[in-house]
Amino acid sequence: TKAKVAINGYGTIGKRVADAVMLQDDMEIIGIAKTRPNFETVMAQDKGYPVYTLADRVGSMEEAGIEVAGTVEEMVEAADVVVDCTPGKVGVTNKELYEKAGVKAIWQGGEAHELAGCSFNAETNYEEALGKDFVRVVSCNTTGLCRVLSPLNNEFGVKKARITLMRRSADPNDIKHGPINAIVPNPIKLPSHHGPDVKTVIPGIDVATTAVKLPTTLMHLHTINLELEKECTAEDVESILAEQSRVRFVGQGITSTAEIMELAKDLGRPRGDMWENCVWNESITMYEGELYFFQAIHQESDVIPENVDAIRAMMELESDGQKSIAETNAKMGI
Ligand code: NAD
Repeated sequence: TKAKVAINGYGTIGKRVADAVMLQDDMEIIGIAKTRPNFETVMAQDKGYPVYTLADRVGSMEEAGIEVAGTVEEMVEAADVVVDCTPGKVGVTNKELYEKAGVKAIWQGGEAHELAGCSFNAETNYEEALGKDFVRVVSCNTTGLCRVLSPLNNEFGVKKARITLMRRSADPNDIKHGPINAIVPNPIKLPSHHGPDVKTVIPGIDVATTAVKLPTTLMHLHTINLELEKECTAEDVESILAEQSRVRFVGQGITSTAEIMELAKDLGRPRGDMWENCVWNESITMYEGELYFFQAIHQESDVIPENVDAIRAMMELESDGQKSIAETNAKMGI
């Protein structure tokens, strides 16, 4: 029988996780929870996902013509694992609900590490999540950093990582956030929280980050600077990154995040998603003994395959992380 997965919070991340779960052989969506009856709710219903909502929203859903399968509590009761994709800091309020129902839960990067006690990146620490009740899939930026820092740390030893994150300021569908005409150091107080967040997945690594917000919706861009323990060449680094199934090298005239997003659409990816880190392999450089490179991260989609792997680990559907990654990739088309 397939693992029964419920999605609590069907927005940018939730709707993508739902579709990725449905592509797998060993898990299925038994319901999604949405608070408002908008176009996404209608589309969820059209896709055949049972729509659940908060007890006080049933009326407004039904008035809008949505067939309500039940309350969020009822959905949680029916699930083996809930993927909580509610907005950051909302997920924490659902913990009691999940504990009461005795259901496993996955939170996203907008919640604190302590909420789940296990922060997850498939390539880095799949085994740590085996059989766990609560796991947090780290944020888009932290996921992107773990995917390159972990294999480079294993191979060459990262002595010191210094990283600048240039962040998109809003998702493409977001009409509330900005700036639309400024570059904003965020946070101004340094270093940014992203470095400590990486350490929740790769304990002990020396990493410090700074972050700015830019008037773009398309992707994040990281400038990565590493001092490595072992002497190596840019080619050595490139060959390690080339082995990573969730790292894609970009070149061939791709000089910006805009062209990467065009590539994702040209590849026929659902919603124009780019699940892999996009590293400019031409940028991989050893300069005065230190490594430098650029990578771009599609904030809306890089965590999606990680959520699928987290479900597989927590439900113990597969004990080997590399096998889970291969299975998720194959079914999604990565
Ligand atoms: P979103 O705003 O796009 O979606 C959240 C959804 O949850 C909305 O549909 C909203 O209606 C619904 N919701 C709100 N309150 C709810 C409640 N009490 N019960 C059920 N549903 C409720 O948010 P998102 O961008 O998908 O972010 C979700 C989580 O994923 C956050 O922790 C965020 O930090 C993290 N994350 C976001 C991104 C990104 O770039 N968008 C990337 C990685 C991780």
